[in-house]
Amino acid sequence: MAKKKRNLKFNPRVPSTISSYVDHDRCINCGKPLSENMDERQFVLAKTRHFPVCGNSCAHAVEVYIERDGRYKTFLYAGFFLAALAILIVSFFNDHSVAIRVFLAVAGAFLVIFPYPISSFETFQSVPIRSVTIITRIIGLVIMGVALALHLYM
Ligand SMILES: [Zn+2]
Repeated sequence: MAKKKRNLKFNPRVPSTISSYVDHDRCINCGKPLSENMDERQFVLAKTRHFPVCGNSCAHAVEVYIERDGRYKTFLYAGFFLAALAILIVSFFNDHSVAIRVFLAVAGAFLVIFPYPISSFETFQSVPIRSVTIITRIIGLVIMGVALALHLYM
C-alpha cells in the first residue's frame, strides 16, 4: 500500500465555542493537563470531532493512531470472533486442550499487535490513548502467559 502524505488537521488557534471541539482539560493521547486558556490549545480531528492534545508530538501520535485504528480494528474483532468460534467448535471434541491453548495465544498476540479495542473516541477523555494501548498490550501478554502456563503445567 502506497504511503499517503499525512495531512495534519489540528489548528492551534480555534474558537472554543464550536461544538465539534471537545471541551476536555487533558491531552487525549498522554493525559497531561492542558492550559486553562482555550486559545492556546491544539486539537486533532478524530472522525467528526476535534479532541485536545498537548503538543505536536501528541497530535502526530493521535493521527497515527486514528489511521491504524481505522485499518486494523476489523482484524482485531475478526480475530477474536474466529478464536471464540474455534474454541467453541473444538470444545465438542475430546482432546481439545492443545487447540484452546493455541487459540488463546493467538488471541493474546492479536491484542499486542493490534491494540485498538475502543470504538468511541469519547472514551479517551477518561483513559488517554497511550494508557489504553499499554493496558491492551498488557492484557494480551497476560492471555499469552495463561496459554503458556496451561501448556507448561496442565
Ligand atoms: Zn499529550
